Amino acid sequence: MPIYEFRCNGCGNRFEKLCPVGTTGADLKCPECGKQAPERVMSAFQACGTGGGKGAGSGCGSCSSKSCGSCGH
Ligand SMILES: [Zn+2]
Repeated sequence: MPIYEFRCNGCGNRFEKLCPVGTTGADLKCPECGKQAPERVMSAFQACGTGGGKGAGSGCGSCSSKSCGSCGH
């Protein structure tokens, strides 16, 4: 299972959790304040590996890094 990073909408806490592929965070809770449904943070690595790569010359299109050096796109 991949490790996803989440950000709490309540307290802003960021945490990582091992989750099944496709996990959105809707079923999770912030470990700091207990608020439900933290927002999943897409790292460049994960975004590129799961549907990125829209075309050459413009990065992946779905990650924040234009050069996408970390994923080779
Ligand atoms: Zn929180």
